[in-house]
Amino acid sequence: MIVSKNPYNGKVLAEHKEFSSEDIIKALSKADTAFKDWRKTSFEERSRLLLKVAKVLKENKQEYAETMTKEMGKPISQSLAEVEKCAWVCEYYAENAEKQLSEEQITTDAKESFIRYDPLGVILAVMPWNYPFWQVFRFAAPALMAGNVCVLKHASNVMMCAANLEEIFKKAGFPEGCFKNLVIGSDKVEEVIKDARVKAVTLTGSGPAGSAVAATAGKEIKKTVLELGGSNALVVFKDANLEKTVKVCVQARFQNTGQSCIAGKRLLLQESVADEFLKLFKNEVENLKSGDPMDEDTYVGVQAREDLAKDLDKQVQESVKMGAEILMGGKRKDAYYEPTILTGVTPEMPVFKEETFGPAIGVTTFKDENEAIDLVNASQYGLGVSLFTKDLAKAKELAGQIEDGAVFVNELVKSDPRLPFGGTKNSGYGRELSFVGIKEFVNIKTVYIN
Ligand code: NDP
Repeated sequence: MIVSKNPYNGKVLAEHKEFSSEDIIKALSKADTAFKDWRKTSFEERSRLLLKVAKVLKENKQEYAETMTKEMGKPISQSLAEVEKCAWVCEYYAENAEKQLSEEQITTDAKESFIRYDPLGVILAVMPWNYPFWQVFRFAAPALMAGNVCVLKHASNVMMCAANLEEIFKKAGFPEGCFKNLVIGSDKVEEVIKDARVKAVTLTGSGPAGSAVAATAGKEIKKTVLELGGSNALVVFKDANLEKTVKVCVQARFQNTGQSCIAGKRLLLQESVADEFLKLFKNEVENLKSGDPMDEDTYVGVQAREDLAKDLDKQVQESVKMGAEILMGGKRKDAYYEPTILTGVTPEMPVFKEETFGPAIGVTTFKDENEAIDLVNASQYGLGVSLFTKDLAKAKELAGQIEDGAVFVNELVKSDPRLPFGGTKNSGYGRELSFVGIKEFVNIKTVYIN
């Protein structure tokens, strides 16, 4: 049995019977059969159904948001926003996929030559619990519009959300098999990847999970896209608008109770403004309301599981042993971790060099631009960076020196259906969203006619 448990009060919410190997085979056969017809549908038909999905999401957003909040502790206002964002990505691809995947004529010595983008078939998505709806829709909307079908292995602690997701596609009228939820633990993923009907895999999650999945897929010569952890830097230069920047940085670190791959986890402050900035920052963090995730005004909830709060505590305490100082917070109660600020953080400390997946931020100071860029690039991760400065020419120049997959200036790193999303280094490879993401799981086919 896979158990859904409310991390806020420890209550068991549901028990899910795990699929046997026969159940997995049955689900994959259904998906494969569905693909044979789905690949022939027009973009118009796919758009019509995806717009219906957006409608179902909006009409039932309270129910879906509550499931998320109960199952993984996300504050309810943020769960509602997540459902809305899922509707947006469906609408975006419903409108743009046909154009993005239209044939491209290329002039060669042939009478006619062009590129077409054909679907691959059944794509497996191994997904995490932190944005239990968004992570799935970000993959599924473009994959379905491209003519693929999806099978989902969701994180074990959000199997109620996973059941909701399958139901949404059914309610919207998608043919049976186009979106299948596999109720399995991670030990069954290898078996699914090895099945000949599965053509490619996408994974969002931790480095070890990504590495295990990519290793199996590699042996099977199947493509993977990996969206792994991050340790984004928030770089505040002395000429930044400090009051605005403080608000953006607090949101960047503490929304979703700090459990986001693109959260700003390393706060890098130029020495001459560090004290002033920290005073404002601490004040703002002190005003964040912690509490019951079901309350509308709660901003910081609990971690999705108690072990995640314990892991964070270990990283904080270890960093303190190495010389960091706690400016505020630093305590855990069950799955709740206090919003925490650590100062005097150096690149050797866990809160700098590892991913911290919760409401704790490490502060490091720098003298000049060169030192700032060295600190940004000193991370094993490369998902995104935020630069705060009024000098936009300087920011554009620095963007070229940064190794990450995204640079946001005077804004937190966020995903937007219109822009590519993904990382470098240990943050993974491949891109999701935009016209780039939809081309990850297609056969880019050359046609040459003489
Ligand atoms: P995991 O990476 O373990 O889980 C993500 C998904 O991968 C889940 O569906 C999980 O299934 C599956 N999975 C885990 N191990 C394997 C494996 N060996 N083979 C195949 N599938 C696997 O995340 P955790 O929940 O353990 O979180 C640990 C840390 O990972 C966090 O503290 C954070 O640093 C990072 N993380 C990053 C995320 C991101 O957005 N980039 C999202 C979530 C976590 P199951 O749940 O059944 O184990």
